[in-house]
Amino acid sequence: MTADTSAALFDVGAYLPDGKHLIGGEWRSARDGAVIDVHDPSLGTRLASVPAGRAGDVADAIGSAAHAMASWGEADPAWRAGILRRWATLLADHADEIATIEAREVGYAVFGSRHLAEAVEFMAGLSDKIYGRTLPARSPETFSFTQLEPLGVCASIVPWNAPTALMLTSVAPALAAGNAMVVKPSEEAPLGCLYLAALALEAGLPPGVLNVVTGYGPDAGQALSASPDIKHMTFTGSAATGAQVARACGANIVSVHLELGGKTPHIVLPGADLDVAVPSIVGNLIRNAGQICYAGTRVVVHESIASVIQDRLIAAMGEVTIGPWFSQPDMGPLISGRRKQEVLDYVAAGRAEGGEVAYGGGPVEVKGAEAGHFVAPTLLTGVTTSMTVAREEIFGPVLSLLTFRDERQAVDIANDSPYGLAASIWTADVNAALRMSRRLQCGQVWVNTFGTRGVLGAPFGGFKHSGFGRIGSIDTVYAYTQAKTVIIDATGGRGSG
Ligand code: NAD
Repeated sequence: MTADTSAALFDVGAYLPDGKHLIGGEWRSARDGAVIDVHDPSLGTRLASVPAGRAGDVADAIGSAAHAMASWGEADPAWRAGILRRWATLLADHADEIATIEAREVGYAVFGSRHLAEAVEFMAGLSDKIYGRTLPARSPETFSFTQLEPLGVCASIVPWNAPTALMLTSVAPALAAGNAMVVKPSEEAPLGCLYLAALALEAGLPPGVLNVVTGYGPDAGQALSASPDIKHMTFTGSAATGAQVARACGANIVSVHLELGGKTPHIVLPGADLDVAVPSIVGNLIRNAGQICYAGTRVVVHESIASVIQDRLIAAMGEVTIGPWFSQPDMGPLISGRRKQEVLDYVAAGRAEGGEVAYGGGPVEVKGAEAGHFVAPTLLTGVTTSMTVAREEIFGPVLSLLTFRDERQAVDIANDSPYGLAASIWTADVNAALRMSRRLQCGQVWVNTFGTRGVLGAPFGGFKHSGFGRIGSIDTVYAYTQAKTVIIDATGGRGSG
């Protein structure tokens, strides 16, 4: 494949000050001046630098957030909602720039960013609707109610694979509920998060309400997780890091929300409309080159239709165009050379454990983008549930095909994973879909579709090692509040019991 690199000259520096992160409304260098270079995974070129923040920078950001919290947390919620709405408008106005920055740092092939404005708009609308309750009392002279108060300084650690959307899943509800935030983006793709924060400032968000500290996970991320001065942590990333973050937060009795990995199965029943199912299975596998937490990476197929599905998957994979974002391919690169090697190692493990590579399985060279980390969409057949490729999150465009004999076995195979993020059922039998959706151990089940787009406020989150807590829903905003119960004895001292 060949890429025209002339379109890659989009200048990230025109949008962000080089080598700075945002603390207390100011663009600052790291205290010690250290930087991290951010690279374009398609071309290998340096895009920009960001500070390599450490514990001191994190402490500065937490201090700024605590200071800002005093007025933001007690402000008129309708005023807060207005600022968030202005931010949403700017996110919509700058959707193309956001998408381009993210395409450059993540390597997305085709991705929009219109949904970012909608996510903020949704939470802005809740800002002035966070109601407590009036509680029943045993005496007419006792009055009691709850009020939902912000938690305080909240933290969010964000991965690289969908950084802007994932930053907003925590920041939008937290700010709507009156909290201040410190965000630590991934060192591999921090630019989009910084740009969103710049737009928040432009929208009138008071300095310090939203801070973005860049740095490596074991430095800035660890310091943020271990801080006794945060009140809540939202971590989105791998299960291994999530466990470390949860341990660090637990030591300070800080609550944690974990959004971790997945191993989503597509269950395909006889009679399913394969003209719909197969393009969706392949299209969602190659979206961000399989680097999506809920990517469907297992296809669990009734044995009677296995060979026809295998042929159709191979044909669909054969149509996939691969290249850097600006050549408008179907699929872009993996984020780094290290991740590419890990994916190829998984394919080798699949072979070594008895699987067969029915399509792809290797690196792809793109002329004009030779330094890009491209891997072919890959289909592994002869896979069983005990094999590494069926159990571990590969985070690449690798699909494992497994077969089942009956409905119960299909669900057992789907559930035979440490993860429980999502599952998709492709069927013409609505009764079977209902029965199976009840038994699937995961946070979301999609029937004859894939993903949450098209539904407003759908809660999203995992069972088992995919984590706990839910993003994106009306309830999410309550996760950033704490209830206080007020009880009033109105007898004037006579006592009501
Ligand atoms: P990762 O766990 O390597 O890193 C995530 C974040 O944690 C980064 O910002 C990193 O700097 C930071 N970090 C690393 N070590 C740390 C430490 N010791 N203490 C504190 N922070 C630390 O994950 P990744 O490779 O960036 O992202 C891919 C993973 O994220 C996949 O497992 C994917 O499934 C998961 N993910 C989950 C969701 C979801 O909503 N469930 C969404 C997107 C990605």
